[in-house]
Amino acid sequence: MAEVVKADVLGFCGGVRRAVRLIETELEQRGSLCTLGAIVHNSHVVDALARKGAKVVESLDEIPPGGTVAITAHGAGEGVVDEIARRGLHLVDTTCPIVRRAQTAAARLAGQGFAVVVYGEAAHPEVRGILSWTRGQGIATLSPDADVPPGTRAVAVISQTTKSPEAFAQFARTLGARLAERALKVCTLDTTCPETERRYQAATALAREVDVLFVVGSRESANTRRLAEVCQATGVPTYAIQVAGEIEDASLQDRQRVGVTAGASTPDDVICDVVRRLERQATAREAGRST
Ligand code: SF4
Repeated sequence: MAEVVKADVLGFCGGVRRAVRLIETELEQRGSLCTLGAIVHNSHVVDALARKGAKVVESLDEIPPGGTVAITAHGAGEGVVDEIARRGLHLVDTTCPIVRRAQTAAARLAGQGFAVVVYGEAAHPEVRGILSWTRGQGIATLSPDADVPPGTRAVAVISQTTKSPEAFAQFARTLGARLAERALKVCTLDTTCPETERRYQAATALAREVDVLFVVGSRESANTRRLAEVCQATGVPTYAIQVAGEIEDASLQDRQRVGVTAGASTPDDVICDVVRRLERQATAREAGRST
């Protein structure tokens, strides 16, 4: 009998759950608000909030005077927060506390005279936000060969929250060794998110028990993409899907134990749909074999 097994830790992280709850509470009171960018990288969540009155905007110019704006769990730059106050908009700040910790560290270290190197994707909203808190004293890069601005004497290395602690440590070691050769002072602060890491570890443990893995989540989510990479690296056949409808029967051929995990922005109902569909397909195959 085929079996569907879920990872011990999967789906919404504390930061995303908190952000969605804050928005829903505000919508109950106000009826409508604007979110500055998608509240999480998952269209299912965004569409569900839109039905309750949350409109995604890309610029503060799209928000009417006196309106309400929500900053996403990824956080925002210092200039954006100041501009919201200047325009007199009502702010709902859903910045995840773990992202906030990285922003605060970036601001403090830059204030102490460090050039701040953020290990992360420069175009990602969270990284752009963190960099902004360095007030021009930071760069974002994935390459330990990246250079720091001329005249730099001290460098602080921090991370995008969704990076793995091992990858960050390796990056910081390589960069630090190179900068130390130039007699620069280097300080490293691990700002990776333990919630993300727990999902990676649970998925790796699950991979040891199953014949095939399904990773559920949006293709726009850096977190879900990285989770799929971690699963693929285990050698177990891995399928990244957004919704239950993407499951192909061929992917379950001759599989007895089917594993399911999901990124930190994937809501519970989407995961439940996938599990139910897999269980139905497993039962149908069993029935087909026994007839
Ligand atoms: S993955 Fe971590 S840092 Fe990102 S929102 Fe969730 S708890 Fe916060």
